Amino acid sequence: MCGIVGYIGNREAYPVLMKGLHRLEYRGYDSAGVALINTNGQLNVYKAKGKVAELEAFVTDKDVSGSIGIAHTRWATHGEPNQVNAHPHYSESEQLAIIHNGIIENYAVLKEGLMKHGYNFRSTTDTEVLIQLIEYTKHTSQVDLPTAVQLALNQVVGAYAIAVLDRQNPNMIVAARKGSPLVVGVGEGEFFLASDATPIVEYTNKVIYVGDEEVVVLERGKEPSITTITNVKKTPEIQKLELTLNQLEKGGYPHFMLKEIFEQPQTLRTSMKGRVNVDANNIALSGFIDNRERFLNAKRIIITACGTSWHAGLIAMYAIEEFARIPVEVEYSSEFRYRKPVIHKDDVVIAISQSGETADTLAAIQLAKEAGAFIFSICNVVGASIPRISDSGCYTHVGPEIGVASTKAFTAQVTALTMLALCIGREKGTIAKEQYLRILKELDNIPEKISKIFHQNDRIADFAKIFTYAQNFIYLGRGYNHPVALEGALKLKEISYIHAEGYPAAEMKHGPIALISQEMPVVVIAPNCGTYEKIVSNIQEIKAREGKVIAIVTEGDTIVSNMSNFCITVPETEECLTPLLTVIPLQLLAYHIAVAKDRDVDQPRNLAKSVTVE
Ligand code: GLU
Repeated sequence: MCGIVGYIGNREAYPVLMKGLHRLEYRGYDSAGVALINTNGQLNVYKAKGKVAELEAFVTDKDVSGSIGIAHTRWATHGEPNQVNAHPHYSESEQLAIIHNGIIENYAVLKEGLMKHGYNFRSTTDTEVLIQLIEYTKHTSQVDLPTAVQLALNQVVGAYAIAVLDRQNPNMIVAARKGSPLVVGVGEGEFFLASDATPIVEYTNKVIYVGDEEVVVLERGKEPSITTITNVKKTPEIQKLELTLNQLEKGGYPHFMLKEIFEQPQTLRTSMKGRVNVDANNIALSGFIDNRERFLNAKRIIITACGTSWHAGLIAMYAIEEFARIPVEVEYSSEFRYRKPVIHKDDVVIAISQSGETADTLAAIQLAKEAGAFIFSICNVVGASIPRISDSGCYTHVGPEIGVASTKAFTAQVTALTMLALCIGREKGTIAKEQYLRILKELDNIPEKISKIFHQNDRIADFAKIFTYAQNFIYLGRGYNHPVALEGALKLKEISYIHAEGYPAAEMKHGPIALISQEMPVVVIAPNCGTYEKIVSNIQEIKAREGKVIAIVTEGDTIVSNMSNFCITVPETEECLTPLLTVIPLQLLAYHIAVAKDRDVDQPRNLAKSVTVE
């Protein structure tokens, strides 16, 4: 994953780069590093294992001057997360330095060839191979840096967003991308580059989204120039950035995750704005309206996603099958892309990704596109790779999600997918008008109902402390709330490092019930809907084995609340919308348990936010 940032202009580069790295730290925090060319023409590279703060501590007595530089925060794929493997990497002669996000898949073959030519390697990364290859090409072909980068990238199999500095040319940064994101910020006499726009936003709102297999040259006093790796000239397309600085701050909350949980009433309003119109009794999704026939003629819908987005996809399966009566398959992108799936021209493929850069989902939709399917994507980051290659889609518009554990993106994805299911059902006539109108009105009430759940936050924080001892948790739910059980378990695993499993409640007796003991907390999602009676029986089974029950129930519930050890209530709503409410206490529970265990909530170990590698 990794975050990359670069600067060239009249300011001191170091503070710009460090601020940028902090913003990109959600993408990885195994190590951090910076390369700067100072006014004496020295190319200084500093790196440290761990977070950006470690790098800042490391450079306190070093020369960090210079108005051109690149910096990196790493999520290791090849090579241990230590100082040597941290980026930037020098070339053999130390004339060049590179930062890289992605994977050079054929690094071993390239490395072998370079070693035969006398190149030595300091690190065990794939990235160092690329900078050596660039240097080798530059020398042997007697070309300038941009051409050497082009030629070298033609030999590379894999994904990359790179930026390269050349000590001999302190007026130029050469960057390129394929598969990993890269944005250029265009200021007055200065350029920025980064994995996303967050390091750029306070300096300029003019950005260029670099395309796949494009090489961009940023040179002082010149316009940015873009060519493909096969040297076809491109006209840079400058776009206006829709992002504000205060969206990137914690706003008084101790963690981004808590801020993002509490933002959900607002973010869902924004997601529904201009789409759910209660006065007109209508839901309007332009991505659906413009492609109505593709949806109405679809014989099947395939949903492809990873992680939390996959859970949103599972909820959508219930909604689409119920309201639109189209068979739905929900696929892990990483499995789908490699298992020779049968895809038809009249399939609609829905890709879900918060970042819009998830490597496996991107590859899955490329496959589906080649097979002629129609691609509809649900993403949050505007202009990201997935929406750009999709035929149509729906942005969730929740603003930047910085906490690594997804919260507000999930509820917005579920909302977008529910709106889509209702739109298709309405057009197909597979949902009764009264039901459509009831759900539409209720969608509009959801933000307020979420706010009501927050009144229990202090109570949840209190009883969360009791569970810090737990080694394992089980989450159970049925129907629409089965995916919520999976999501609740994932949240707990991600940030508290407690092992947790989600199951459809009735599956428990086919195995997991063996795990139940006095020690085992069992979270049961039991709102007042279709399968309530069944869940009551499942709780009896847990109680009979002395499990500790934490129940999520509808306000006014007496049966389950009397049977459970802890109970959190959610307001009454339509069954298909219950996930939007029941997931909120689970987000808060995971958060407070993690805080009580003193975990790094926003940047949990081994994880990174945007999974741009396979
Ligand atoms: N493959 C590079 C490394 O391990 C970059 C990793 C990434 O972008 O996630 O250093």
